[in-house]
Amino acid sequence: MSYLQVKHLYKKYGETLALKDIDFEIQKGEFVVFVGPSGCGKSTLLRTIAGLESSSGGDIHLDGESIIETHPSKRDVAMVFQSYALYPHMTVKDNMSFALKLAKRPQQEIEQKVGKVAKALKLDALLDRKPKALSGGQRQRVAIGRAIVRNPKVFLFDEPLSNLDAALRVEMRIELSRLHQELQSTMIYVTHDQIEAMTLADKVVIMSQGEVAQIGTPLELYHQPANRFVATFIGTPKMNVLPVNKVTDGEMLDVAFNEDARIRLPKDTYDGRALASASIGFRPESLTICTADEGDIKGDVEVIEQLGSETLTYVRTLSGETIVIRAEPKFTPKLRESVGVKLDPSKVYLFDSEGKTTNIYGEVSHV
Ligand code: ADP
Repeated sequence: MSYLQVKHLYKKYGETLALKDIDFEIQKGEFVVFVGPSGCGKSTLLRTIAGLESSSGGDIHLDGESIIETHPSKRDVAMVFQSYALYPHMTVKDNMSFALKLAKRPQQEIEQKVGKVAKALKLDALLDRKPKALSGGQRQRVAIGRAIVRNPKVFLFDEPLSNLDAALRVEMRIELSRLHQELQSTMIYVTHDQIEAMTLADKVVIMSQGEVAQIGTPLELYHQPANRFVATFIGTPKMNVLPVNKVTDGEMLDVAFNEDARIRLPKDTYDGRALASASIGFRPESLTICTADEGDIKGDVEVIEQLGSETLTYVRTLSGETIVIRAEPKFTPKLRESVGVKLDPSKVYLFDSEGKTTNIYGEVSHV
């Protein structure tokens, strides 16, 4: 049986349906990330699991028992907030001891637990300081330490790193991964940042408009996105998506897109979905730049970004779309130069009229 089960969960705020039929399971020890754009419902879902919001339907089971009616303080979950929410008048040590004191644990046990966690989080030299004398990263570590000391069944993190600068975010991200490996605890983490989701998660729950768009490992979402939303949300730069003009269904699918580009896709795994107003997608790293004559798509170089380890080239196609290519170009194009762009035969995605992946990518014959 799964450790945490979210069963057909709904949440309404007045007329707004913030969560629609959310249904998934989490295994003990998993690091699960809820990710999606602002307003998709990820914080509401986390807060409903914590008991800080009531639900409008459905159930939540933790360790075999329903907790939907259980008071937040009795759910055995610990939440770490973006704002840290430390007690400003208390020292680091008192902040970290607070929950154990409330639970009337013996003083010796409190000293021992706080000391151990402080050491693991490199806070042992700061135990007598108050929060205002700490950096943002140190405050966040205290907030995490305070949760760990409680030894909850599930840790809930609500965008815990978003107040930190970019370098510190990366550092804390690595520390969190290390901490998860050490503690082997069940963690749920909310973020709008797909890189955080990809780097931290065993399992990603990607949400859109109050619904689960897909659940999978980071690489499943990257390589087998269920729909156009997931395909374009995961990955930087984004997957290029161009509207398809016409699909001719013969021995192969003959796909006309952009101004005059055409490719043929095999039909072996095509499930016959409607392809009127379909779109075609390819990731920046599956494209290469070549001469205009050799390309599947033609266009003009609009912007070149040289990042040292890679070059991103933005090409404006004849029909006015911009596509991005991640590669070290075989030849270095100049700005505004006319070039061709070649597709990788095995890495083309076709999305049906509703944006669902038709999963027919495979070998491509260039026409
Ligand atoms: P996210 O965390 O993904 O940014 P939220 O869970 O905060 O999204 O919000 C989901 C939806 O619910 C949004 O449309 C938001 O406006 C709405 N919402 C969130 N909290 C409240 C509230 N307390 N009252 C009314 N609407 C809310």
